[in-house]
Amino acid sequence: MSLSWWTGPIRRAAKGAAFAAVCFLAMAGQAGAQGGWVDPWATVRGPSVGATQVWGLYSEGCIAGAAALPLEGDGYQAIHPNRRRNYGHPELIDFVEDLAHQASEAGLGVLAVADLGQPRGGPITGHASHESGLDVDIWYRLDVPALPQEERTGLEEVAMVAPDGAVDPAVWGDAQAELVRLAAVDERVARIFVHAAIKRDLCAREWDDRSWLRVLIPEGNHHRHMHIRLNCPEGNPGCQGQGPPPAGTGCDGDDDPGDLGADRLARYGSPGYPRPPGVLPMQCMTVHQAATAR
Ligand SMILES: [Zn+2]
Repeated sequence: MSLSWWTGPIRRAAKGAAFAAVCFLAMAGQAGAQGGWVDPWATVRGPSVGATQVWGLYSEGCIAGAAALPLEGDGYQAIHPNRRRNYGHPELIDFVEDLAHQASEAGLGVLAVADLGQPRGGPITGHASHESGLDVDIWYRLDVPALPQEERTGLEEVAMVAPDGAVDPAVWGDAQAELVRLAAVDERVARIFVHAAIKRDLCAREWDDRSWLRVLIPEGNHHRHMHIRLNCPEGNPGCQGQGPPPAGTGCDGDDDPGDLGADRLARYGSPGYPRPPGVLPMQCMTVHQAATAR
């Protein structure tokens, strides 16, 4: 039930600020035109006014003063231009634009950029994280030409892993590998979630520098896109990061990147599935209720 995440903030608010709890309860009672539940984070029209600040976790958080990624730019296009999910911390916007520029320079193709976050972050359907303006999904397929916005919805998000469990050479190759590497060497990046078969392929390749393989976290369902997560930007004390990934490349011996069992969870932490009981930071009430920047 999608209401469950409200109980956390209300509970937390009751300890510190009864007034805010009342406001939040009122919001939680909103009903749509058809009488159904209105997702208060999905329906907010734009970022909040004021300074940029990240609050909370990637999986339980929000962002004040987010920036928007333009729906197309040098070397990339937003693949879901109508979802209003192209928002994030300005550092995330810069990262996507920089990666697209590098991919373009390398002749890899036009990046298909899927979801970043909502205008103020917060819980977002279809994702366990993407809440604090620091996560972005980018498709592996690089063969989508630059298209007008109205032709970008409904494109196929091609799977890179064949039924035998290995990468499919018909769709996965050097360009995809180089794209992941370009993202992973960026020092702003904390983790990149990729399918275990993709990590195995990247580990098996020859690279002068292999240290970037460390940030690749094998994660079952990332066979169509990689999920790139940035570190908490400087000047965001309310942002809760995860600490660095385990030492080493994660390519050898007992650190089998194909391991998706309990031991893997101990090593990498939960990617966020299923969502834990929701506790948004109390500051997210203020973020949600702030005036809209435009
Ligand atoms: Zn994602």
